[in-house]
Amino acid sequence: MADPILATDGLGLSFGTLKAVDAVSLKVRRGAMTGLIGPNGAGKSTLFNLLTGALKPDAGTVRFDGQNITGMPSDRLFALGLGRTFQIPRPFARMSVLENVMLAPKGQIGEAIAGPFLFRGRMQAQERDIRNKALEVLDFVTLDALADHPAGQISGGQMKLLELARVLMGDPKLILLDEPAAGVNPVLTETLIGKIEELNRQGTTFVIIEHDMDFVMRHCDPVIALAEGRVIFEGTSDAALTNPMLLDAYLGA
Ligand code: ADP
Ligand code: MG
Repeated sequence: MADPILATDGLGLSFGTLKAVDAVSLKVRRGAMTGLIGPNGAGKSTLFNLLTGALKPDAGTVRFDGQNITGMPSDRLFALGLGRTFQIPRPFARMSVLENVMLAPKGQIGEAIAGPFLFRGRMQAQERDIRNKALEVLDFVTLDALADHPAGQISGGQMKLLELARVLMGDPKLILLDEPAAGVNPVLTETLIGKIEELNRQGTTFVIIEHDMDFVMRHCDPVIALAEGRVIFEGTSDAALTNPMLLDAYLGA
């Protein structure tokens, strides 16, 4: 593949004797919506954690957008344009939806840029810029009407939209979504996938972990499958549907 946006080589992490991610070498095509599938415990979330600096690998390398990012912390990756959402969103429950979105760049980019020498006026101007951007992003994900609600009181599906909003504050080139549709009602799932596809048309690359095979087959191409920490399939979603290795992994046949 020419110029993949993300590539791993021999990536691995063990928890004790369990190889959660085992010598994974894969490439993510720029501009694509790649589906990452595999049975429970296959290592999908752990792989995301290795790609985004939440965990450090004990083997292998990760390259993002032409740069070696192995072991780089997640705030630096966010600033470079690599964003991710979590399988189980954990917003700051008592803060408002808007404040949760504003936190993304403030904690992750803003303070690093600001340093100790900023004048108050500039600080306020920056705060205002972040607020305006957060409002735009909330409007995009259709959460603008909930901007002042405590984040702990919105539905599970709205929390997934909030997660996407937080990621969008970083102007990401690549977004990794961990089970975006799990536990979300069908209406909000359609809203979410509509927004994801709109971003994809504008050039954002996605890797989507999803359990629901229908969802993957409808929205993702190509597909990468993991089982027991290893890549067992890489190909088109059509080929995935008839692949015997995949059927085995899912059905335990
Ligand atoms: P998936 O997201 O594909 O369901 P995970 O990446 O969450 O799988 O988990 C892969 C394997 O690693 C599982 O066997 C899981 O129990 C184990 N695992 C995940 N995180 C940890 C951890 N922090 N400590 C120990 N084992 C873990
Ligand atoms: Mg998982």
